[in-house]
Amino acid sequence: MTNLSNDLRVQLKQDFFTQLPEIVDVVKSQADGSYKFLLQACDARLIETLVMFPKDRVTICISCMVGCPLKCRFCATGNEIGFIRKLTISEIMGQILVASSYLKEHSIADKITNIVFMGMGEPLLNIDAIKGTLEALLSHDGFGLSRHRITLSTAGVVDGLIDLLTTYRVKLAVSLHFPNDDLRSQYMPINRKYPLPVLIPALKELQSKTGEDILIEYIMLRGINDQLEHARQLVGLLRGMQVKFNLIPYNPVPSLEALPSTEESINQFATYLIQHGMMTTVRRSSATDVAGGCGQFVLKASKK
Ligand code: SF4
Repeated sequence: MTNLSNDLRVQLKQDFFTQLPEIVDVVKSQADGSYKFLLQACDARLIETLVMFPKDRVTICISCMVGCPLKCRFCATGNEIGFIRKLTISEIMGQILVASSYLKEHSIADKITNIVFMGMGEPLLNIDAIKGTLEALLSHDGFGLSRHRITLSTAGVVDGLIDLLTTYRVKLAVSLHFPNDDLRSQYMPINRKYPLPVLIPALKELQSKTGEDILIEYIMLRGINDQLEHARQLVGLLRGMQVKFNLIPYNPVPSLEALPSTEESINQFATYLIQHGMMTTVRRSSATDVAGGCGQFVLKASKK
């Protein structure tokens, strides 16, 4: 920008950062056509980002941390990578910009239509960067995306939740995964800080303010949380709330010796929830043939 004074250019160089993450690898899943991006931040840390094509949408799943401190036992990110650092606003936005350009350049898709914060990391533990990212995504001077096209996911962090969601009014997904405190604390250590008697009232309060449905993510682990008794407990736990269940067959990771639930038990579980008034879908984990479970692409690349 030679039309700017030299002093201003020096100042800009000092104060601003314009580098996007670099693409290290892109793999297309033969199973579902999704694309998994391995990106490198300026400090050489690796970030993973997934683009999926459900129905007529182009949905990007972005990371907000390198690794994650929460150590959910069924997750490669938390257990094997651990927590390295939070991503900045520019690194979170950078995932969207880099993936968008790639999709356009390769004539795969014109634009990203939906954004989910469900990659590596817990968004509510990187709340300032998430706020900045949401400002940029929702602003008419930025991406101008509708709030209905953005979903923020949490493992159940309550601090800041109601304030964030009532300010930005994006959709909320809660990684609930277990129907009682005993099981949840065993597999998701965050439950010891925010047990269900804290989390559920916070979700109810939020819903009373926004009136929006809450998406409940529920990983199906054979013989652990997939029995009809667990479905019954869930119905009791969430009574009076407007929720949509997303049942996710477990994608095995080394840190947890467990098997995915059988088709039959997933169907029985789903049927029970539906019969008790809970909208329920079953999701196949995306791109499992390209290390698609959260954190597995980074892990594979780090071990090379
Ligand atoms: S499931 Fe999400 S919150 Fe839990 S350890 Fe993995 S990245 Fe972190």
